[in-house]
Amino acid sequence: MRLLRFGATCRQNGDCPRYAGGVAKGEIPRVEYACERCGGVAITRDAWAEWHVQSQAWTLSEVFDFAFCHQCHRETRLLERPAS
Ligand SMILES: [Zn+2]
Repeated sequence: MRLLRFGATCRQNGDCPRYAGGVAKGEIPRVEYACERCGGVAITRDAWAEWHVQSQAWTLSEVFDFAFCHQCHRETRLLERPAS
């Protein structure tokens, strides 16, 4: 398990493992993020969405460090671990 550090931001087309979807099976291990306190995956992060005219949809443009656990009902830090 690797603890995500606060201060490290993650862009949609950057090196965040969450956005590495669509790769062939076995190339990049799938991961999930969990609350460091309770281990639950009911977590969210603050982000900006921008309106994309061509696709007529809101698209994620920036994901911030702030994470919130909806089980603990408070701010948390995230653990990255292999997806179950
Ligand atoms: Zn929690």
